[in-house]
Amino acid sequence: MARMNHEEAVVTTRLDAVVNWARKNSLWPMPFGTACCAIEFMSMMASRYDLSRFGAEALRFSPRQSDMMLVLGTITNKQAPVLRQIYAQMAEPKWVVSVGVCASSGGMYRTYATLQGIDRVVPVDVYVPGCPPRPESMILGVIKLQEKIERESLKARKEHVERFYESLARQEALQARRGLSTHQAVREMVLEAAAAGQQAIF
Ligand code: SF4
Repeated sequence: MARMNHEEAVVTTRLDAVVNWARKNSLWPMPFGTACCAIEFMSMMASRYDLSRFGAEALRFSPRQSDMMLVLGTITNKQAPVLRQIYAQMAEPKWVVSVGVCASSGGMYRTYATLQGIDRVVPVDVYVPGCPPRPESMILGVIKLQEKIERESLKARKEHVERFYESLARQEALQARRGLSTHQAVREMVLEAAAAGQQAIF
């Protein structure tokens, strides 16, 4: 009978590595679909491309039950506070993938009504280029996110999300102080940040 060598049986690792391994292989996606990129997302989730092969099959339409938001389509300035609220309601830790040029930069909609990139109002982890990006590109985006999750520290992710909550508190204080709507408050914060040479409000 073979004798067990206990020295070889012991495996050591870091807590971050084990937790991140579990996190990256159990992402729960939530689509924030507003335009044509959402159609490509449907294709990515369906049987031909099948994102479940990458451990992200539990598709949910509730922020409470998701931790990876994919923003798919044009986001108007009036939708910006809605996007922020939905991100705030998601389970922690949470990640955002900006899919397509419209979500990432406003795309061809360089107008006063369109948000010129969602990364002004919510923290984005991965950008997927294209108009529309093919399902393969979106899958690559999810793989890049998994690689990022694998490398990040638990503390850094916590601080990342907390910075957003601080900006949400500033937004609510601005609304209460000046009697502004959510849309007006976010717009004002975006303009203030731009005047200070910053792009994001968190
Ligand atoms: S990036 Fe292109 S395909 Fe995607 S929502 Fe914008 S216009 Fe539609």
